[in-house]
Amino acid sequence: MAEEVLGREAASGLVKQLRETFGSGKSRSLEWRESQLKSLLKFVTDCEQDIIDALLSDLSKPPFESVVHEDINATTVRFKRCPTLTIKERALIAMLKNSCKLALKELKRWMAPEKAKTSITTFPSSAEIVSEPFGVVLIISAWNYPFLLSLDPVVGAIAAGNAVVLKPSEVSPASSSLLAKLLTEYLDTSCVRVVEGAVAETTALLQQKWDKICYTGNGRVGRIVMEAAAKHLTPVLLELGGKSPVVVDSGINLQVATRRIIAGKWGCNNGQACISPDYIITTKDFAPKLVDSLKEELEKFYGKNPLESKDLSRIVNSNHFARLTKLLDDEKVSGKIIHGGEKNQADLKFAPTILLDVPRDSLIMSEEIFGPLLPIITVDKVEESFDIINSGTKPLAAYLFTSNEKLKKQFVLTVSAGGVVVNDTSIHLAVETLPFGGVGESGMGAYHGKFSFDAFSHKKAVFYRSFVGDAAIRYPPYTKGKLRL
Ligand code: NAD
Repeated sequence: MAEEVLGREAASGLVKQLRETFGSGKSRSLEWRESQLKSLLKFVTDCEQDIIDALLSDLSKPPFESVVHEDINATTVRFKRCPTLTIKERALIAMLKNSCKLALKELKRWMAPEKAKTSITTFPSSAEIVSEPFGVVLIISAWNYPFLLSLDPVVGAIAAGNAVVLKPSEVSPASSSLLAKLLTEYLDTSCVRVVEGAVAETTALLQQKWDKICYTGNGRVGRIVMEAAAKHLTPVLLELGGKSPVVVDSGINLQVATRRIIAGKWGCNNGQACISPDYIITTKDFAPKLVDSLKEELEKFYGKNPLESKDLSRIVNSNHFARLTKLLDDEKVSGKIIHGGEKNQADLKFAPTILLDVPRDSLIMSEEIFGPLLPIITVDKVEESFDIINSGTKPLAAYLFTSNEKLKKQFVLTVSAGGVVVNDTSIHLAVETLPFGGVGESGMGAYHGKFSFDAFSHKKAVFYRSFVGDAAIRYPPYTKGKLRL
């Protein structure tokens, strides 16, 4: 059941109420921010089991028992309680906890005005940059990491002193319902609210005037959000997707590279992640070796019948299953599947699937895949891949596997993407000292760590002067003598 399912009037009332509380100054105090961050941390800790259950229900996240053996010390009790806990779930819950802990540790420093230099022309004076909360902010999140994508921005919004409305995705209903029911028991509902719903409810919310909107999801809806925001000149943080390429050079540690590609692709929600490798570009000469290695490691990870593997998420729903099926049914990729292709509509299972030498004008190369299909494009020289990537829309992430230092530099300099990783995939998401966000069609703005605080703060320029040093030159009449000075 939704905490509240609302229409336009109710949405307007909700914003009004939050605006009043924000106006009272309540959410601005250090004490309030700290108390809410602590409560958020407590929610994630207390409700870990509920979170895991919701994720299992929404996405059938796989068991990953090997992790239990690898990292048992800190979590023995919890693992005993929940043998189905996976590395992804643990990592994501850990990421959320880390975000809260970092914000709690750094909050005073982040909130402190930042001194700015002044020049001799304004002497005597001083200047500082004051981080001010925007006000009442809206966070609309996506289904594929329903807790992380909902709560990580909330951490930033609260840390920055805003009142917040969170609208989780209806596509992951168990997670959405849990957030609506339980999160609000932990947080101050006069400043933080969760609204469940789909297009109608989100539309009602978007009709309101917000002070910042953070949207995670696809570019089509990103445009709807931006259009609604434009009406009120509301700033937006758009966390979108795109086709994240992986360039694979020869002369690498192939097994490590292959395992890292698999971990970022099928090991992240079976490819349903915004920074999943979308396609590979490699040379014609190296492709057979890479393909063999991918096949070998995939079989080690997911067995001979991956549809039965408990270590692969299912596809989230039948719409996405049909969308992925359509990509394979495109006649332009007929005969191109060199591995996988098996699927089972009844339980929405889809095997890791590799396609070789797909035409660049095929459907699979025209849109973000967001699933377990991995096409490979081959080129004569690896450097050609840079032009291929730059000829498309800017991806959220771009990956390169190489031992060649010159190529690394060239890649970083020439490929435009939200983030770039050399010799791994997806892992940069967990580095809280790096901004996470897109560029061009993969989004605008960034968050994570201190960048989350900044994303939800207006940087107010403050300039202090005294009454001394009042130079007559700035005032009329503008005599020739003044011009000569
Ligand atoms: P989704 O279907 O959960 O939609 C996202 C949000 O948009 C939901 O809350 C939904 O209610 C809302 N929405 C849907 N249609 C709407 C409409 N017409 N008007 C207003 N709101 C509407 O998620 P999705 O879009 O399927 O997510 C997948 C996409 O998101 C992929 O492109 C992926 O790359 C991207 N993504 C990006 C990030 C990131 O951090 N950059 C993270 C996850 C997913």
